Amino acid sequence: MNSFARFRLSQALMTMAISLFLTVAVLVSSAGASSSLLYDYPLNGPPDVVEAFNPPPQPWMPGHRGVDLRGQEGENVQAAGDGVVAFAGLVVSRPVISIDHPDGIRTTYEPVDAVVHTGERVHRGQVIGTLLPGHRHDGVTVLHWGARRGKTAYLNPIFLIKTPLIVLKPLSLPRTEFLLLPTPRNTQRALCS
Ligand SMILES: [Zn+2]
Repeated sequence: MNSFARFRLSQALMTMAISLFLTVAVLVSSAGASSSLLYDYPLNGPPDVVEAFNPPPQPWMPGHRGVDLRGQEGENVQAAGDGVVAFAGLVVSRPVISIDHPDGIRTTYEPVDAVVHTGERVHRGQVIGTLLPGHRHDGVTVLHWGARRGKTAYLNPIFLIKTPLIVLKPLSLPRTEFLLLPTPRNTQRALCS
């Protein structure tokens, strides 16, 4: 075997090893995700983020304390996770629903015409109301979806979604890039205060 053949053989073995590793990583992440999926997006279909989470540097400063998900007026809004409705009503003329979840996180949804009431227990995927227009000045109908721990520790709600835990982004083998997506373990990093 000449040196070029040895090089190609070692390259092939490396590719196989990487493929095996990736397969294992995907299987591990899938197994973990399916057994403990706690949250899901509150609108049906693939999420279309019109405006991303942009927390203020200080709690009293302006920012975007949630994500705006594109929707249709009148479409169903669903509880992102199991919990108890902490509030369903108007906050300074904005129709808002808040849900307290067992892990201490509160998710909020606005503007939503609620079909649930304060104190009601809800489960993930349960319809809690219908989407209203009016959140954005540009006229795009969106659901403003927020999440926080405590009164001012806002989280990026996208981080609540556990799947996929890992997105594998092979470029040109053997170069492979791993893009780690947030998991509940590192959602602490999303705290803005
Ligand atoms: Zn918003």
